[in-house]
Amino acid sequence: MDSHHKEQPKILWLNVGVFALTFAVAIIGTPLWAWHHGFDLSQIAMLLAAFTFTGMSITAGYHRLWSHKSYEANVVLKVIFALGGAFAIQNSILHWSSDHRIHHRHVDDNDNDPYSAQRGFWFSHIGWMLRDYQNEKYNDYSNCRDLQKDKVVMWQHKYYLLLVLLTNFGIPLVFGVIHGDVWGALILIGFTRLVLNHHCTFFINSLAHIWGSQPYTDKNSARDNGLLALFTFGEGYHNFHHIFENDYRNGIHWWQFDPTKWLIKLGSWVGLTTRLRVTPEERIEKAKAKMLLVKLQKRLSVTPENQRRLQLIQIEYDALLARMADYYNMKKRFFDLRKRKLLKKYEKADLLQQLNKMKAELQQQRKTWYSLAASYSY
Ligand SMILES: [Zn+2]
Ligand SMILES: [Zn+2]
Repeated sequence: MDSHHKEQPKILWLNVGVFALTFAVAIIGTPLWAWHHGFDLSQIAMLLAAFTFTGMSITAGYHRLWSHKSYEANVVLKVIFALGGAFAIQNSILHWSSDHRIHHRHVDDNDNDPYSAQRGFWFSHIGWMLRDYQNEKYNDYSNCRDLQKDKVVMWQHKYYLLLVLLTNFGIPLVFGVIHGDVWGALILIGFTRLVLNHHCTFFINSLAHIWGSQPYTDKNSARDNGLLALFTFGEGYHNFHHIFENDYRNGIHWWQFDPTKWLIKLGSWVGLTTRLRVTPEERIEKAKAKMLLVKLQKRLSVTPENQRRLQLIQIEYDALLARMADYYNMKKRFFDLRKRKLLKKYEKADLLQQLNKMKAELQQQRKTWYSLAASYSY
């Protein structure tokens, strides 16, 4: 053995085989079958339905429910997600969540983050699963003691392989028999759907740590990427997610594409989900302003003539923070008092007036700050 080279962990042939075989069937089998037999609309619809079911079981279930506990779900919904997760072949909930919690805790740390993006695109995308990098740590679920008390999680973990086989062969077969094209269903709903699902999820570990903007933090490599969100049921807003990981949303604005958030919210209207966690507005706004300040400081610190501009930026930034503190504190006080029914009618009107005044002042300061920032962002 060459002592200068660290020995590579052994190759996990089962994983390599599954990824290679499914990829080959999808990329060669699908066009061939389409050419010789064709796919009809109901098969395409089933592909989309199965892709959505598996994808969202990972995003809403594995990720936001179990890994981050950003809300609570009814047992029926949990079982649906557990089945969808097995259909997605991304390991059990327990295992996935354990890896993912380590990823957040040690993000970008090449020795500890299981899919550290600092080790390159290939490694963070799929390479980390092709060799036994985790070896003795593989079955250590000590960071998921809470999940070990969840009956659905442990049931899925115990019967994982059986559930994988049942869903991945059962669902395409049943559909194929009803529809009348068993092989077409196996290729499209079985293999192609799985490959699409795999790589869309994997992009979150690779691309979403490489490509996109960093509006909330630059303490880690995570990026916001609206395009990626389109293929990942909203998970592309990964910069927001890494700083506010317990928020059930990833795309916080109404115009951002985050169907996972919509599903969780919709669930709360019919009693399937409860205790949806959101980050206080003030923390989000502060993080964003701070990030912009840091970017401007970096940009302007290059030349000494910029000293005056840097001072100006700092003054307006401090004023913005002061206005934020005023407004958000007042808002909190107002809602507290209103909740406890401690407000008389005239007091309420008075407080509301003050609140609106502070809101207008904050809005004015936001304008000043953002237009100043824009004028220096050359
Ligand atoms: Zn990440
Ligand atoms: Zn996460």
